[in-house]
Amino acid sequence: MSEYSITTKLVHAGERGEQPVGKPVSTPIYPTATYTYDSMAEMDKVFSGEGGDYVYSRYGNPTVAALEKAVCEAENGKVAVAYASGMAAIHAALAACEITTGSIVLASQDLYGATFDLLNKIFGVYGVKTKTADFNNLDELARIAAELKPRVLLAETISNPLLKVCDIEKVAEIAHEHGAKLVVDNTFASPYLCQPLTLGADFSVHSATKYLSGHADSTGGVVISRDEFDKPNLDGIKKLVGGVLSVWEAHHILRGIKTLALRLEKQCENAEKIAIALSKNAAIEKVYYPNLDDKKSANKVLRGNFGGALVSIKLKNDSREAAWKFMDSLNLAVRATSLGDVYTLVSHSASSSHRELSPKKRETLGIAESLVRISVGIEDVNDIVADIEQALK
Ligand code: PLP
Repeated sequence: MSEYSITTKLVHAGERGEQPVGKPVSTPIYPTATYTYDSMAEMDKVFSGEGGDYVYSRYGNPTVAALEKAVCEAENGKVAVAYASGMAAIHAALAACEITTGSIVLASQDLYGATFDLLNKIFGVYGVKTKTADFNNLDELARIAAELKPRVLLAETISNPLLKVCDIEKVAEIAHEHGAKLVVDNTFASPYLCQPLTLGADFSVHSATKYLSGHADSTGGVVISRDEFDKPNLDGIKKLVGGVLSVWEAHHILRGIKTLALRLEKQCENAEKIAIALSKNAAIEKVYYPNLDDKKSANKVLRGNFGGALVSIKLKNDSREAAWKFMDSLNLAVRATSLGDVYTLVSHSASSSHRELSPKKRETLGIAESLVRISVGIEDVNDIVADIEQALK
């Protein structure tokens, strides 16, 4: 660069050098928006799809691709595409099912609130109809699917906040019998506890913001499909809607995934101990935990004997005031709306995830005013139990 002025050198010197011969042990972060090639002919090949490499980061990025590969392997999928958030991933999975005007989505009545809003306020505008059913009542679900002939069935592996486990195998059979695709939001279980594609689902979706990342420091989403054929659709939605995962987030999530098994094992062990301890507490009306409520169903879907890492509680004094007083009295557990982090988090469903529902609808779904969801962290379980017990007092 000696022929150039200092101004030009400062702009270009050191950039676009040779790649190192030694392979980096962990995936580098590639914060580049675009890519250059030695010739226009080479670049043209890449644009045409023949070259198969990177041209522009909205289309693909090596750091994001490493994350996609990791999640794809973990879920035994054929294709995985990452997005900017869990919501962007759910949108992409539904769009990849090619729902159009008049299509019916049959959704679990217990879905995450924003997923309903996505179905009604975004897809609904284009004439997609959403119907709901109790996915834990399989006879009823089969009857409704036969009657409605939906394009898609949409379920969550573990429901929020009552933590009902979905029999994915049976629900997939019902979906396929009626020509529908099954999309499973696997966020609450994580790929460590459940692999929906292995159980028959067509798409698995994650809010990577939760267990995959695990440290409350990134936002992202991933869709995994069992079929190569879905790749152009999933890529197309990413390219054209533009909900692209940032390389920085991809790096954080990829790093988080490395400890997913360790974190989840500890979180599940803690959760089970907390569920058992709280079911003996006089201030609690009911503890919701898959291994207490329906261990057989939980063990059919979740790895080993794990019951998941979330516990919900309904207080004897079933009022919002009592729930908030309990939450305000916690010293260790953090009041926050997310889940899946190394920290123990507590959230009040009626005023957060299910805030938009009418009190009547919440009552129908069994979401009590005093219901508090605990996302169990990796702290010493004795400290978590002691904190909850002192706050209950
Ligand atoms: N799916 C479930 C089950 C969730 O709980 C959430 C968020 O809480 C989402 C999807 C949306 O994820 P994100 O916030 O990453 O868009």
